[in-house]
Amino acid sequence: MDQRRNITSEEDEALILDSVREFLKRDVAPFAHDLEARDEYPQEIADKMAELGLFGTTISSEYGGLGLSSVTFAKIMEEISSVWMSVGGIIGAHLVMARAVEHFGSEDMKQEYLPKFATGELRGGIGLTEPDAGTDLQGIRTRADKDGDDYVINGSKMWITNSVKGNILAVLVKTDPKAEPAYRGMSLLMVPREAGYVPSKLEKLGYRGVDTGGIEFSDVRVPQKNLIGGEEGKGLQQILNGLEQGRINVAARGVGLSRVCLEESIAYSQTRKTFGKPICEHQSIQIKLADMATRVEAARLLTERAALAYDEGHRADLEAGMAKLFATEAAMENAAEAMRLHGAYGYSKEFNIERYYRDAPLLAIGEGTNELQRIVIARQLIKKFPV
Ligand SMILES: Cc1cc2nc3c(=O)[nH]c(=O)nc-3n(C[C@H](O)[C@H](O)[C@H](O)COP(=O)(O)OP(=O)(O)OC[C@H]3O[C@@H](n4cnc5c(N)ncnc54)[C@H](O)[C@@H]3O)c2cc1C
Repeated sequence: MDQRRNITSEEDEALILDSVREFLKRDVAPFAHDLEARDEYPQEIADKMAELGLFGTTISSEYGGLGLSSVTFAKIMEEISSVWMSVGGIIGAHLVMARAVEHFGSEDMKQEYLPKFATGELRGGIGLTEPDAGTDLQGIRTRADKDGDDYVINGSKMWITNSVKGNILAVLVKTDPKAEPAYRGMSLLMVPREAGYVPSKLEKLGYRGVDTGGIEFSDVRVPQKNLIGGEEGKGLQQILNGLEQGRINVAARGVGLSRVCLEESIAYSQTRKTFGKPICEHQSIQIKLADMATRVEAARLLTERAALAYDEGHRADLEAGMAKLFATEAAMENAAEAMRLHGAYGYSKEFNIERYYRDAPLLAIGEGTNELQRIVIARQLIKKFPV
């Protein structure tokens, strides 16, 4: 049982959700369409998120964060993703990194990083995936070799969120490439940008605006104190622990995306007329709306249940896996249904529907693919119900 989880009162939750909705309406909604079309990083939006304290959403208040619960964080992510999913990515990966430091770092490390993570002075993410290893992280090749009091890092990461605009990463490396099994030789290192890694940006179908890219390490040197937990060989376990929270927040993004697809479909179906009546009066459109709404509710309940289990201090891999799987598949289904329901307008760059349709598939890939979630769920079930 982990006693260091956050609790948020109903009043505090209502206040923060009000300010997030206001921020989204004023500072994000009017600009999302154009920024996304140009694949331009939403710098002003990110800076306003910092002013609102969102870079420290789940960081404990003793380190300067808002100290919000996972349940409240999920609701914030739902709201953000119902307006522009990419904006959630700026803080999502950052908070998984913060979680690894807060949960496993020494007190000195927490004092060094968490207050700066909370203000957004330091912004970053997690460097796990490589050109030849994603789901099977034990296959990574990036290595960190000890040299005096330092580690020297060499290798390449790929698909890293906040690659260019971030200034620090928690990087999964091999400190003992010969270890068997491989995870025993894997460690997590904090690597600031000034240590000399070279980021790049990749072109993507969706989830545009936020930068995702490669990271090159060529003799990048960091002090040994940057090893999270101070002990080699714990890195995979540390990051998997953080991904439990990460999966809940990806599920919440799925809820937000599913919801906006539903909301825009309900509205459009009442104004678009065919054969002398609004399309919402055709039974096949009603079936679509009913199925979309049911998916939103079910996805939200699963997400809240996973977040609650996490807040109660249990390992919530089963709940988080189910929530991530269902809510992200729901987002893809709702985006496809919203596109059909909008006819040609759904396919048009003038409307937001095509953006939702392009954004949704990422949710089935990031923080562990949905194929992997099914493996996680099945393993947990077998563990839970042994014969
Ligand atoms: C926009 C974006 C942002 C990202 N951000 C980050 C980030 O910030 N940090 C980071 O480290 N990574 C990030 N990623 C990478 C992401 O986590 C990986 O893409 C993901 O884990 C899958 O790895 P892969 O792409 O190498 O696919 P692979 O592992 O090569 O998998 C290929 C296919 O095989 C399936 N598969 C693999 N193993 C099994 C199995 N045992 N059983 C059944 N099916 C299997 C997979 O589900 C998938 O369908 C991001 C990716 C994208 C697209």
